[in-house]
Amino acid sequence: LEPAYQFMVRVRAPGGVTTPEQWLAIDDIARKYGNGSIRLTTRQSFQLHGILKWNMKKAIKDINETLLTTLAACGDVNRNVMCNPNPYQSDIHSEVYEWAAKLSEHLSPRTAAYHEIWLDGEKMVDSRESTKETEPIYGPVYLPRKFKIGIAVPPSNDVDVFSQDLGFIAIVEEGKLQGFNVVVGGGMGMTHGDPATYPQVGRVIGFCKPDEVIDVAEKIVMIQRDYGNRSVRKNARFKYTIDARGLDWLIGELHDRLGWRLEQAHSYHFEHNSDRYGWAKGSNGKWHLTLFIQNGRIKDDEEYLLMTGLREIANIHHGDFRLTPNQNVIIGNVAEEDKHQIDQLIEKYNLSDGTYNSALRRNSMACVALPTCGLAMAESERYLPTLLTKLELVLDEAGLRDEEITIRMSGCPNGCSRPALAEIAFVGKAPGKYNVYMGGGFAGERLNKLYKENIGETEILETLKPILFHYAKEREQDEHFGDFVIRAGYVDEVKSGLDFHN
Ligand code: SF4
Repeated sequence: LEPAYQFMVRVRAPGGVTTPEQWLAIDDIARKYGNGSIRLTTRQSFQLHGILKWNMKKAIKDINETLLTTLAACGDVNRNVMCNPNPYQSDIHSEVYEWAAKLSEHLSPRTAAYHEIWLDGEKMVDSRESTKETEPIYGPVYLPRKFKIGIAVPPSNDVDVFSQDLGFIAIVEEGKLQGFNVVVGGGMGMTHGDPATYPQVGRVIGFCKPDEVIDVAEKIVMIQRDYGNRSVRKNARFKYTIDARGLDWLIGELHDRLGWRLEQAHSYHFEHNSDRYGWAKGSNGKWHLTLFIQNGRIKDDEEYLLMTGLREIANIHHGDFRLTPNQNVIIGNVAEEDKHQIDQLIEKYNLSDGTYNSALRRNSMACVALPTCGLAMAESERYLPTLLTKLELVLDEAGLRDEEITIRMSGCPNGCSRPALAEIAFVGKAPGKYNVYMGGGFAGERLNKLYKENIGETEILETLKPILFHYAKEREQDEHFGDFVIRAGYVDEVKSGLDFHN
């Protein structure tokens, strides 16, 4: 008799775009085969937890029937390409989304094995040589490690472009998309106690025109394929390839492979890396409502029928759903005449656009961790809301309830919630114990620094309370918390991941 092994299934959706029909199908699959909940991830995809081994094939087949896929949502290939989730915010956003979709398509594995294994496709005859032909980008052994791409449209850095292996910053001048600044070598993961591993911020290496973006991405992926560390998996991400050989080496190698040179980077400015909540009117005249989904978990409980409420919206909605990089959801493309009906359901189910919450909670993010992630050392998704409630009492006392501060928690140093870029971050060490980091940039442009190691809730609150009061009293005008803790001397500024542990 085989034990009831259960799995997580991740669904790929470039830019986080899905139709109401797809939403309903995911909802149905989650209830039929999963643990009855849907998880929105920090990479704009869905995760379904608790799928028993003997239901895997049925679940994946159902997902593919909705025209979504699990192919390349995990694995040592390019993952879900992220971009600002609302292509209708402006014509530029729409153009950028098209490039994200093209990148995703171009970098998808070509193998038929996925269809053969999961979708009852024809048996393929495979060999190293044939794989070389079917996988012109990845080759027979794919990449040494996962690869992540994100496109940001300033002033929003919601995709955390500096956390990506390869990032693109849209450059808009005179109202037109001129092209993209190219950012390389970001990454969040590290291992506790191993200074050879560290989070890193991506570096801007130049500029390319829109129709050059696929070529640049393809060549960068191929460089990582050829030079990434295949002996030590912990050092296999692209950031280590670059840091071992140098940025100049990478730029030279890229130019050689392209046969042309990147132009000099253009100037850009980011203001924040989180979502903006509530209704907003897009350039297409339709309305878009960003809802706050705490840590991306969609489920029903006795007091809050979030999953049912969103299902009812999907039943009457003629637009689309957009998963944000901060684990929230946008009810997108709502016609003026349909807005009232959506609002009625929002009210009926008490769904929140986040405005009732403290600004700290609106800017919070936690990874899945326990009980479904096998790598977790501590709680994250299930615990951060409780900790926030306690911190909110401090904020109220200090008059900081409406002060936007980014706060993130991860159950282990893999950093799925991108904690190394938060102004306040917790990374799990053991049950109930966390390393506390501070000093990340509010726009996701700077890494934070370890402040306290291996502490529990009481010490966390005792540690943060005086610093928050100090910030409330002595911050300069418009000074963000992450900047303040550096100026006030609590932590040193981290300019590069190579200094993260110093
Ligand atoms: Fe799991 Fe670690 Fe990722 Fe959290 S950060 S979801 S604990 S792997």
